[in-house]
Amino acid sequence: MEQKSTINFGAGPAKLPQSVLLQAQKELLSYNSLGISVLEMSHRSSDFSKILNKTESLMRELLNIPDNYKVMFLQGGGSGQFSAVPLNLIGLKEDRCADYLVTGTWSAKAAKEAEKYGKVNIVHPKLNSYTSECTILCRLSSRNSRPSSWTLNPSASYVYYCCNETVHGVEYNFIPETNGVVLVSDMSSNFLSRPVDVSKFGLIFAGAQKNVGCAGVTVVIVREDLLGHALKECPIVLDYKVQAESNSLYNTPPCFSIYIMCLVLEWIKNNGGSIAMENLNNQKSSLIYDIINNSDGFYVCPVDQPCRSRMNIPFRLKTEEGDEALEKQFLDGAAKRGMISLKGHRSVGGIRASLYNAVTLEDTEALATYMKEFKKQHM
Ligand code: PLP
Repeated sequence: MEQKSTINFGAGPAKLPQSVLLQAQKELLSYNSLGISVLEMSHRSSDFSKILNKTESLMRELLNIPDNYKVMFLQGGGSGQFSAVPLNLIGLKEDRCADYLVTGTWSAKAAKEAEKYGKVNIVHPKLNSYTSECTILCRLSSRNSRPSSWTLNPSASYVYYCCNETVHGVEYNFIPETNGVVLVSDMSSNFLSRPVDVSKFGLIFAGAQKNVGCAGVTVVIVREDLLGHALKECPIVLDYKVQAESNSLYNTPPCFSIYIMCLVLEWIKNNGGSIAMENLNNQKSSLIYDIINNSDGFYVCPVDQPCRSRMNIPFRLKTEEGDEALEKQFLDGAAKRGMISLKGHRSVGGIRASLYNAVTLEDTEALATYMKEFKKQHM
């Protein structure tokens, strides 16, 4: 079978493991010798039930999810969860207020959406720059996982944060301490990239299209006692209790996306699980950060070192503001070598290398080699 020569460093939808694509291709016309595709299969059929159950059990195994948590596969993306979280959880306490940590574009959007349904308290002083001031939030040891500048509200219904800010490349390397208040995390862009202690969370959600599959399905892992508190205006498809009780089958789920996720989870398991993913992701990101750090200012990563993301590495050329003409040259040269989707998010510009689970060490080495050569030519 022909190998792909393009290396996709896109931020999502992102690269899928080659073996997953090949298996999906093989099974596209006839899944399990049934003579029909998963695309054509009833979501109530026993064959789809098996796919759904297998996906859930792999997820439970890979993340060691405790029995008192439900796992759901929903539609609406991460953005749908920006609404679903407050619709389901802000009514947990009478005050209808929630604490938000805002460390980038995605948590800012989530906080704005939550304001429709209750009071939102931004826990920390306003950051003028997500990248250079994120240290205020993230430079903490595991023993001190709550800085003194945070003002958590003990009567908040939940505390919300985005574990990895995809646009700005800011990642938490600790779990915030909330003094018993329910903790909610958007893990869309670092889900299953390392082990996580699910028991510390009330709810975790993640869109699949970066680390665990393709667009269309969002995983929601929620502690059982948090079900049944939805506001009355909550759309029924976003109601966690309804979806949990119907095993994500209240309405037609994104069947094919769930099937692809199942294949990716199997691939993660066969490749050593979340610990192996963590080792690989540390290795890959260190390779690129080492080049940035040792480039005598040719490559500039605006993010403070303690909260640099292992998943999304944004950088500029020559200065923090970047040199747009040179950056275009960098991107064009990369494309000529088959390395695509390295352009930074439109809101920040520059370059961004996304190194999700399916990006291999060899892919990353190819980028590292190119970065070294480009620097030699243009320093
Ligand atoms: N949260 C994070 C961390 C993201 O990176 C994204 C999208 O890239 C979203 C949420 C929004 O996801 P969606 O486009 O599926 O709504």
